[in-house]
Amino acid sequence: MLDLLTLTLEQQTPEQTQGETADFTWQWLAEGLLQCTPKSSYSKTMVLSAGIHGNETAPIELLANIIKDLFTQRLTLGARVLFVLGNPEAIRQGVRYLENDMNRMFCGAYQHLTPDRETYRAAQLEQMTAQFFAQSHPDAARYHYDLHTAIRSSLLPVFALFPYQVQAYDDFLIQSLNAADLDALVYHNAAGKTFTHFTAETFQAASSTLELGKAKPFGQNELSEFAAIDQVLRAVLSGQALPVRQKPSIRQFKVVDSILKQSEDFQLKLNADAPNFSRFEKGELIATQHAGNTVVDDQQVWILFPNPNVKIGLRAGLILKEIE
Ligand SMILES: [Zn+2]
Repeated sequence: MLDLLTLTLEQQTPEQTQGETADFTWQWLAEGLLQCTPKSSYSKTMVLSAGIHGNETAPIELLANIIKDLFTQRLTLGARVLFVLGNPEAIRQGVRYLENDMNRMFCGAYQHLTPDRETYRAAQLEQMTAQFFAQSHPDAARYHYDLHTAIRSSLLPVFALFPYQVQAYDDFLIQSLNAADLDALVYHNAAGKTFTHFTAETFQAASSTLELGKAKPFGQNELSEFAAIDQVLRAVLSGQALPVRQKPSIRQFKVVDSILKQSEDFQLKLNADAPNFSRFEKGELIATQHAGNTVVDDQQVWILFPNPNVKIGLRAGLILKEIE
């Protein structure tokens, strides 16, 4: 039994760094990194990550429970998997990040920051992910589910973001998110520096960032709120059929623009605690600043991740349109 979460919280190296169960072999690669390979053939190879933001504890607990059930054989492994607890020191401290947001550091972006524990970790995650996919069966389809919880509330409570990519979006990934009762899918219109952009761009993985509810400390999560995604991840890992969706149809949005903060007089026409997917109608003002105002042009839009307090030159929110 390898308890990845306890080892990570206690900053321990396991006595045994590899081993096997009845149906898979496992290898502890480094802090918060565990790879499991089925003894039988497999058609999917997947990265399951959480804790890229250290205070987003519910998905970390969810992965820890899945690992426990794999080792106790309550869950059969039918896919190759790399479990990732992204930012161990931030997880231990219960903070989103120490110096810089790790989910803006991928695709080599860490190289442009002052070296510290988080830039080292981002480099390590890139390297370990590359090694994991390189060692997987070449015919296995590649997946990456990066699990998060949001800082703010959301009018559509659970949603997934797809990185911008040139290859087509993967049908099975979309089916699985549909089965997980997500409320919405959001397609990025430009390359980013997130973990899922990295895996989609570098390994052509079918990758998605999941926002699963609000961030709370360890022990205060209502894990039943995460039951649908938990059930889906277990089905994907064990090769079982996906559950049937219980909610109304999933809504789909595309990012059409970013709101850039260009000067100190910048004002976002939303309260500081406004929820994700706040809606603006045609002609309404979204933001004002010296360089020019942002007005809704021809149809209603939704705002994701509004944050007027970013530094000048950075993104204060994303503007979405719904895909019919
Ligand atoms: Zn997050």
